[in-house]
Amino acid sequence: SRPVDLAEAVELLTAARQVVLLAHINPDADALGSALALGLALHRRGAHVQVSFGAPERPAESLRDLDVAGLVVPAHRVVHVPELLVVLDTGSVDRLGPLADRAAAAGTTLVIDHHVSNSGFGTHYYVDPRAEATAVMVLHLLDAMGASVDLPTARCLYAGLVTDTRNFRAASPDTHAMAARLLVAGVDAEAVTRPLLDTHPFAWLSMLSAVLATATLEVDEARGLGLVHALVRRDLVDGGRQEEVESVIDVLRTTAEAEVAVVLKQVGECRWTVSLRSKGRIDVAAAASALGGGGHRAAAGFTVDGDAPAILDRLRRALADAPLLG
Ligand code: 5GP
Ligand code: MN
Ligand code: MN
Repeated sequence: SRPVDLAEAVELLTAARQVVLLAHINPDADALGSALALGLALHRRGAHVQVSFGAPERPAESLRDLDVAGLVVPAHRVVHVPELLVVLDTGSVDRLGPLADRAAAAGTTLVIDHHVSNSGFGTHYYVDPRAEATAVMVLHLLDAMGASVDLPTARCLYAGLVTDTRNFRAASPDTHAMAARLLVAGVDAEAVTRPLLDTHPFAWLSMLSAVLATATLEVDEARGLGLVHALVRRDLVDGGRQEEVESVIDVLRTTAEAEVAVVLKQVGECRWTVSLRSKGRIDVAAAASALGGGGHRAAAGFTVDGDAPAILDRLRRALADAPLLG
């Protein structure tokens, strides 16, 4: 495995006739939007293209409109030995879930990602932790390939930008300029953003109310850091969409007294996926990495077996060991 720059990544992408692009499991708009934007460009160049992810079977409802060309295939239909495998927005190979085996089978595996915690897997990796979204990196690649950014492509990239920058709150001037370019290409920002960030069924309100009733605020006296956490038990979700589960952290993180917000999401009888958010004083990717996950300094996660109180105990210790940021 070795790092490549933009030019070398473009060479790999343009040489392949048959390409599989994979997003991480439970793909968000950055993962799926980046895979689709790059997939569309390669498809237009004449390559055979599949876009997929290990789970669930179909993209989240809020993301389905992005796939205008029908490039997404279910995981079981992904070719077994791709000529070129491109893995996007994925910090480690286990985040491919059941499709992790394709990374070993492919002739070439190119990882395109912006996670600080990226483990540098694949035969080649193009990783830029300064990029605010994988979509930023993909737009640079498209430009270097001479690919046109048509409206479907622009929508995919805009969806990635708006999600990973929390609606541009965390976006640099360069990323704002990029968004402006996508708007000029015809993106209707409101139409792309509303299903991603602002749409929930009525049932979400009662689910949210039950989840928020579990919210607890604790203060680490030694470091003066507040921690707010809440539990999303499986029975509260009950067949609902993942979008509603993922939205809880955005409510919790608004707690003024808390530097860190944590949501424990039950995914099995005794298995939880944990979302961490920091306001910037503490590196939550370090804490998540110590518990087998990863992410970014301000947004990270991990999945573990155990009961909620025990997981919270381990998390408190990992946070106490996580570096404070200057
Ligand atoms: P979220 O809380 O939205 O699921 O994830 C926040 C960030 O943490 C994302 O950048 C995501 O890639 C990362 N992340 C979440 N769960 C895991 C995990 O289980 N392993 C790793 N390596 N990263 C994770
Ligand atoms: Mn992602
Ligand atoms: Mn991302």
